[in-house]
Amino acid sequence: AADLPHVDDSDPTAKALGYVEDASKTTDPKHKAGDACANCQFYSGGPTGYGPCALFPGKAVNAKGWCVSHSPKAK
Ligand code: SF4
Repeated sequence: AADLPHVDDSDPTAKALGYVEDASKTTDPKHKAGDACANCQFYSGGPTGYGPCALFPGKAVNAKGWCVSHSPKAK
């Protein structure tokens, strides 16, 4: 998984979902403080660096990233 190409902001899916590499940089009103890929149920990577997201098959998202499909991990 460490070798997956990173999603970048110009990726069509990234644009559609408002993905950003750094959750603190989004201006999307749907973003709630503290939400990031690392605590999203679609993310299966570690707490830092990059990891897979179910919505971006074959790519890796930033643990600190965020998109409009963020859904908190079940505790
Ligand atoms: Fe990050 Fe979750 Fe969006 Fe995937 S669905 S990019 S893990 S916020």
